[in-house]
Amino acid sequence: MTADQLITYLSWAIFFLLFVVTAVQAVRRPSRASIDIAILFALPALLVVLNVAGPAGLGWLQRGPLLTGVQVIGLLGMVYMLLRLVDDFIWIPRSALLVAEVGLAVVAVASFFVPQPLPAWYSLLVIAYLIIGLAYTVVTFLRASRSARGVTMRRMRSVAAGSLALGLVFTFAALGLLTPAEWRGFWSVLSELAGLTAAVAYFLGFAPPGILRRAWQEPELRGFLSQAVELSRLPDTESILRTLEAGAAQSVGAPHALVGLWDESRGVLRFTVLGETVELVPDNTKVIGRAFLRQEVASSDLRWARASGAYPELGGRLGARSIMAAPITAGDRRVGALGVYASRAPIFADEDLGLVNLLARQAAVVLEMRSLIDEAAQARAREEAARMKEDFLSAAAHDLKTPLTTLVAQAQLLERKAQNDPSAPADIPGLKRIVRETIRLRSLVIELLDAARAEQGKLVGEREPVDLAEYAREVAERHDSSRHSVSVEAEGDLTGLYDPGRIAQLLENLVENAVKYSPDGGTVRVHLWREGGWNHLSVTDRGIGIPPDELPRVFSRFYRGTNVDDRRFWGMGLGLFICKAIAEQHGGTISVTSMPGKGSTFNVQLPAAQAGRDFGEEDERAGAQQATGEEVA
Ligand code: ADP
Repeated sequence: MTADQLITYLSWAIFFLLFVVTAVQAVRRPSRASIDIAILFALPALLVVLNVAGPAGLGWLQRGPLLTGVQVIGLLGMVYMLLRLVDDFIWIPRSALLVAEVGLAVVAVASFFVPQPLPAWYSLLVIAYLIIGLAYTVVTFLRASRSARGVTMRRMRSVAAGSLALGLVFTFAALGLLTPAEWRGFWSVLSELAGLTAAVAYFLGFAPPGILRRAWQEPELRGFLSQAVELSRLPDTESILRTLEAGAAQSVGAPHALVGLWDESRGVLRFTVLGETVELVPDNTKVIGRAFLRQEVASSDLRWARASGAYPELGGRLGARSIMAAPITAGDRRVGALGVYASRAPIFADEDLGLVNLLARQAAVVLEMRSLIDEAAQARAREEAARMKEDFLSAAAHDLKTPLTTLVAQAQLLERKAQNDPSAPADIPGLKRIVRETIRLRSLVIELLDAARAEQGKLVGEREPVDLAEYAREVAERHDSSRHSVSVEAEGDLTGLYDPGRIAQLLENLVENAVKYSPDGGTVRVHLWREGGWNHLSVTDRGIGIPPDELPRVFSRFYRGTNVDDRRFWGMGLGLFICKAIAEQHGGTISVTSMPGKGSTFNVQLPAAQAGRDFGEEDERAGAQQATGEEVA
């Protein structure tokens, strides 16, 4: 056996093996693409059989019209099947496929009638068909491989290389026909070498050995895994899902991927598709539903997608017609499902499915880790809530105890006095103390109830036009004394749509604090003005001030300054918390500036009334947003 014979037999063997492998694949997983691939290699297998039956070499083109016809059809058919594969996976214009079909038919039919030996022009025509068809395949596969990844990308490139080599087989054959006879042997050796290359490249493309696949897959998996470690630390589950989706799409080389989380209580898989939440009841008509229900990978090919009409729900919105899906499962807990979407059928479905399955398993680990973190956070939040409740109860009980004790003692004293001397005149100062303590008790209880309402966002009720200046003057008058002079300066129209009771409470709290925390007396200035669409109100005192490091906590529930002595300055630390809620629930803000020993200024900003305009929800929200950034000036 000569060297070039060896080459020829070797390529035949590979082509024949390819047929066997792809035929088995087509039987195991029948789809348009897998059947096309099997037919593609059935043709060279047929040629091999014919060649084994007859003498080997390129000479077959000249022998017998029937044999020639079958052989020409076999060759042209291969190229046509390659074009169909391009269409299966990538898409080619309908007209191009039609030209190929008509060309195939014409050349094939003609091959039975053209006189023998075949004229050179006819052979050249056949070869031109083959070369153009193959060149087209090479270009499209190469182009498609650019948007693919890992194994799929390398397999596509191998197919392109195989087609290029096959194209060379025919190019060399054509050169053999066009050059003098003594050159024929040279071209024929080259042609056979190109044939072997084509066989090997197609083999790598259409049936790569497992070890090669794993090596090709590794970089993508490694990339995904290195990302996955960081994923569970992302701030929320949504951002984890988005990153997982992007990672999965990139690893597979598909344009889109979606991760749906299983909501057990509602029996739906919940996805976010283009920013919108989509719920999908898993059933067997949807690939992703099937993957989830059967707990195994599932995929669709183009025809399946068209026939089942399952895509309008998810993939349709992404412009995808093909999907590969895998369940995301942690142990025996069903977490959700991963779907990878593409506009065409996956070219090497088994490969990509394997990868999608691996990615889904990684996603399960990440999501499981995340839910453990979330559970821990929830447990912490519950503890915190319980602690706050305890704080609240003990603070409330502590504050209620003092006036109650006084009240009980005073009432018992009066009772004893009355029993001892029923005719004695009523103890007016004692009764006054009882009334005073009862009022204090009542205001404490009201404050506690208000704090609870503030927490629920239900502090502000019906609104009506309120003139802030008028309310400020009333409050100032009540607190004005020889020890504390309370002045009001108001500029311009200061009306707004407010809950009058709450606005009075806000002013009362601020002015009362200003007086209370100025134990040595002094001036309290209430300034009101209008700016832009806002009414501003500030209450300034020259009292004890607030330690700078405590400023961020001033409006928190139960905050009391460290410079405040409980026995001297009576209070629960709820007034400012309620003031903040009143301002914010009106769509406004509150802030404070203070210097210990020099005094404090509380600033409130509320939306002003504007002619012909009501205070819609929008304004409230705008105001509230500002509030978060401006709690403490
Ligand atoms: P309370 O006055 O009942 O303690 P507040 O919520 O009204 O509750 O005030 C919380 C804390 O803020 C006060 O205990 C005090 O330490 C501080 N504070 C409030 N207003 C002033 C002010 N005008 N000057 C100095 N400190 C103040």
